[in-house]
Amino acid sequence: MEIEIATIGGYEEVGRQMTAVRAGDDVVIFDMGLNLSQVLIHDNVETERMHSLDLIDMGAIPDDRVMSDLEGDVKAIVPTHGHLDHIGAISKLAHRYDAPVVATPFTIELVKQQIEGEQKFGVENDLVKMEAGETMSIGDSGTVDLEFVNVTHSIIDAINPVLHTPEGAVVYGLDKRMDHTPVIGDPIDMERFREIGREGNGVLCYIEDCTNANKKGRTPSETVAREHLRDVLYSIEDYDGGIVATTFSSHIARVKSLVEFADDIGRQPVLLGRSMEKYSGTAERLDFVDFPSDLGMFGHRKSVDRTFKRIMNEGKENYLPIVTGHQGEPRAMLTRMARGETPYELDDGDKVVFSARVIPEPTNEGQRYQAEKLLGMQGARVYDDIHVSGHLNQEGHYEMLDALQPQHIIPAHQDMSGYSSYVNLCESEGYKMGRDLHVTRNGNLIQLVD
Ligand SMILES: [Zn+2]
Repeated sequence: MEIEIATIGGYEEVGRQMTAVRAGDDVVIFDMGLNLSQVLIHDNVETERMHSLDLIDMGAIPDDRVMSDLEGDVKAIVPTHGHLDHIGAISKLAHRYDAPVVATPFTIELVKQQIEGEQKFGVENDLVKMEAGETMSIGDSGTVDLEFVNVTHSIIDAINPVLHTPEGAVVYGLDKRMDHTPVIGDPIDMERFREIGREGNGVLCYIEDCTNANKKGRTPSETVAREHLRDVLYSIEDYDGGIVATTFSSHIARVKSLVEFADDIGRQPVLLGRSMEKYSGTAERLDFVDFPSDLGMFGHRKSVDRTFKRIMNEGKENYLPIVTGHQGEPRAMLTRMARGETPYELDDGDKVVFSARVIPEPTNEGQRYQAEKLLGMQGARVYDDIHVSGHLNQEGHYEMLDALQPQHIIPAHQDMSGYSSYVNLCESEGYKMGRDLHVTRNGNLIQLVD
């Protein structure tokens, strides 16, 4: 059976991930993401109203025109998890393919919300839920199967999809860390990866996310970030002024820890900001997390400002607002607070806890710098970097190669300079560039089996 890989997006940047795998006549697409930094750089862009071709020209969504060179029919579109760089282009591209979107329940729910917000295209692809650990048959040959292996990442319900073919398995390994003690959900299923590496024809190809390949050692568990957060919040338990926390809205495990520790230090947590309400509300509705029944979640500006007024009236020392804005996004809640645009008044010595790291990208770095400066001008003091990454460090990469023993490797999720550490790592394991280690660019086809 011919096996071919199309590297469509996310091979020259972090963002707009998209890869297609052809097994004979059947094609499966993994991820359809948005490159948010290409959107942020233009002020006031409303992607909901924009046409795909304009977004492609901006570099915001994958340029999927290479798909016309791939012979075969798309049978499934498979986003691996709910981060925007993996699902953000579905509302712009999926309607071009007569195929269902297949993903885990939390991811499907986020895709559904995104499609509902789309204003340019009518996206009518079926949305099919499949849980981690499950397998479905692809196409009519009866020999190609799609399996979801449970992985741990900075968002719940993440998987690595595996396409089983008669020539071996293609493992799409983007976005995970090896967490054996996650705060929500099951540990990464390394046992299954080891089995896949050893059964049948083994692993034909492994597509891997190189984000942290330059970092030595191991990515800590979410439990480590949770204990770090506990340490910080408990240490300011006796502070009688304002404490504000921010984190990734989609990081439900982290939000859960913040909510619990707020209660521990005698403050009422409240989630503020549109995406805080969206992700936490969705996770709670789907039973991934059990928040206290009186936990307030407010997204609309009016209800947020009403909540801030109540906090000011009843005393800041009674509350822990958990807000959007960890990257200093101009329209997010924390940035509005920093600019003095909300009824919440910051005083000298108030604490702002960033349970996040600045995403190393110039737009974020600039915006975050500005937000922190503005907070500082109001007298607030910052606790920074209370976070662990969602991506594998070097030891995790070694462990994956050992488990899977892939015949071919395709590094992804970086630009050329970001690949170098992973290339060195693979070469130290006996792989060779141009032979079985394929460093590539957006818009290329790699034929693995003729
Ligand atoms: Zn991710």
